[in-house]
Amino acid sequence: MIKQINKAEAEKLSKTVLREPTLVWDALNQVQKKSAFKFAEDYKKFIDNSKTERESVKEIEKILLKSGFKNIDSVTKGKSVSKFYKIYNKKAVAVAYCGKRDISKGVNIIGSHIDSPRLDLKQNPLYEEQDIALMKTHYYGGIKKYQWLARPLAIHGIAYLKDGKEVTITIGEKESDPVFSISDLLPHLGKDQASKKLSDAFEGEKLNIVTGSLPIGDKEIKERFKLTILNILYTDFKITEEDLLCAEIEVVPAGKSRDVGFDRSLVGAYGHDDRVCAYTSLRAIIDLKKIPEVTAVGFFFDKEEIGSEGNTGAKSKIIDDFISDLLVIKKEDSSQRSLRKAIISSSALSGDVNAGIEPDYQSVHEKRNAARIGYGICFSKFTGVRGKSGSSDANSEYFNKIRKIFNRDKIVWQVAELGKVDQGGGGTVAKFLAEYGMEIIDCGPAVLSMHSPFELCGKADIYMAYLAYNTFYKDMI
Ligand code: MN
Ligand code: MN
Repeated sequence: MIKQINKAEAEKLSKTVLREPTLVWDALNQVQKKSAFKFAEDYKKFIDNSKTERESVKEIEKILLKSGFKNIDSVTKGKSVSKFYKIYNKKAVAVAYCGKRDISKGVNIIGSHIDSPRLDLKQNPLYEEQDIALMKTHYYGGIKKYQWLARPLAIHGIAYLKDGKEVTITIGEKESDPVFSISDLLPHLGKDQASKKLSDAFEGEKLNIVTGSLPIGDKEIKERFKLTILNILYTDFKITEEDLLCAEIEVVPAGKSRDVGFDRSLVGAYGHDDRVCAYTSLRAIIDLKKIPEVTAVGFFFDKEEIGSEGNTGAKSKIIDDFISDLLVIKKEDSSQRSLRKAIISSSALSGDVNAGIEPDYQSVHEKRNAARIGYGICFSKFTGVRGKSGSSDANSEYFNKIRKIFNRDKIVWQVAELGKVDQGGGGTVAKFLAEYGMEIIDCGPAVLSMHSPFELCGKADIYMAYLAYNTFYKDMI
């Protein structure tokens, strides 16, 4: 028989055993609320300047240099340096703040990614059709194609000239710049399109950006609309059609991040996924007030959106390379065995965004296990799809350890799965780090409109991600 209890006892019991979700705004005092808004302003500056992985690397480096970190390649042998970074192929960064404990006993890692879904120009992009000059694209990462039509787009990228000179191209961000756009069908003639499935109604090969409609020369000249564009590219940048073949030019939403809402409580921007985790973890490491017990390491990976492939993604051996550099710099044994020990003994957070419950699409979430905007940093014990396939599932012992230090520091946190069990899912860099045997769990803020050209993230959650990552670096032993 269960012992009956009175109302007061029931209330006491509830307080002891139940967990009520905490709204960050309710947990913060006035000073902290101000800090959250101030932090968002810093973040907006970062994200506005970091629309591609290359730009993110440059911004991260700028911030690191300002904060006393040194490029590992510039560190003279034998000199004792405790804060440094390394850049991989201009698209990924690793940073370390050396702690008191030996590297070979493990480090504390936060891994995030700095690539976002977008459209890449094809290698042979330029053509003309109906006296309009266009450029062909190949989308990168998971996008809902229709979201990219009929809106201002900017191009950001680099090209190399035949003489080897690197040229940076950014068009569409300044007020005085032109923008680009993908033309969409008018509703009046959309009958056939409207009857198609969404996945068929918008084709990848129709994601072509309009780049001009002014002819050069007279009617006798072949492809004179395309020639106009090539003329401009050559005049302004010395770029020829062949240079475009080996260029990397990305098409992204034009414009800056904006406060969203009457109360300005959200930030709307392109690329919160995952530059919000990149920025908050970067600040978390920079703002460490004293030398950490355990070396704090941040990885800012590229290519997460296409499966962490390539030599700048989490699947590459960047981790081995950087940790072995740490061993050498700290004058520890840097044999393969020591490197293995250092990595397998490490603790990690996979800093990546989670899907907040969409007010208008609540049915795709299982609400007892879904992230809510405003309820703090979100743990995903596992990711993967349908039966946890392809997932890294964090160990209970490890999760518990982090929960303890987060609670001690009054970090507001929640737990979530990406969606309903058989609805879909997603992966992060977690499983690639887990392959090394290190402990890892997914942990990041929730966003709305994920993978759209204008994602929403709550200022309370951005600030809480920063505090959480800082606590992890400070207290995880
Ligand atoms: Mn992500
Ligand atoms: Mn993503």
